[in-house]
Amino acid sequence: MTTLLDLTGKTALVMGVANARSLGWAIAEQLLSAGATVAFSYQGERLRSELEKLTAQYPGTLLQQADATSEADLSALFERVKSELGGLDAVVHAIAYAPREAMEGRFIETTPQDWDTAMSVSAYSLVGICRHAEPLLREGASVISLTYHASQKVVPKYNVMGVAKAALEAATRYLAADLGAKGVRVNTISAGPMRTIAARSIPGFSSMYEKAAATSPLGRNASPQEVGKLGLFLLSDLSSGITGQTIYVDAGSSIMAMKLDD
Ligand code: NAP
Repeated sequence: MTTLLDLTGKTALVMGVANARSLGWAIAEQLLSAGATVAFSYQGERLRSELEKLTAQYPGTLLQQADATSEADLSALFERVKSELGGLDAVVHAIAYAPREAMEGRFIETTPQDWDTAMSVSAYSLVGICRHAEPLLREGASVISLTYHASQKVVPKYNVMGVAKAALEAATRYLAADLGAKGVRVNTISAGPMRTIAARSIPGFSSMYEKAAATSPLGRNASPQEVGKLGLFLLSDLSSGITGQTIYVDAGSSIMAMKLDD
């Protein structure tokens, strides 16, 4: 991979890599090739071996289990980051979950339990993570998360996840306002559809993926590598004047109301 920036000496924490297709990994690859030291957290022990494989060429990489909804896990994670890395220049939140049933039926049928789960894992977790990370964030540090356009427009079956993404985008603005005084920036990347494990749990994803490509001005979907490059930009000094924003990397599909057949 061509190195776009030099981040030697910078430290980053990436949360939410399940495998090589994960958007968190696409961003981590850019950070690693720019020379940053990258630590990873993962939800379940079954993901550890996948991360060990992905980071094999970076011996000593900090890998720590942390459920993003567990205060105890977050305390332990940031304690370890503090003792091993000292501080952080970048945090990547690449975490989302909603029970599959909540994405199969009508939005109106969303149960309070599914609402709470989706909101807690997919939106509140960014707030908790920023609170735990705050003492470690260095001047000029940058935090990013990943969102989707279903926060702004109705996307069939996205249901409560669309509402959770709207909350994530609003939380991004409030967190940016809180952390700005320390010179810390918070932004979210609105990615177009990408073939990842999380996407597989969205009913009708394949058809959504094809429609988004056909409608977009570029006639295709954006790639995970393009998400990675935007991540690198937002986590670097190149974006030093940008905070509280939702920035799209979707080959332009969100600007189109419709596309007519030729
Ligand atoms: P992914 O590879 O499945 O990554 C999602 C990650 O979230 C997984 O590692 C998952 O771990 C983790 N996670 C879920 N609940 C967690 C919890 N309580 N604590 C810690 N980690 C937890 O899918 P992805 O598509 O790259 O998703 C990354 C982000 O991109 C998400 O916010 C997603 O909404 C967003 N996004 C995706 C698309 C797309 O089309 N793929 C488009 C726009 C935005 P487990 O595997 O253990 O559950």
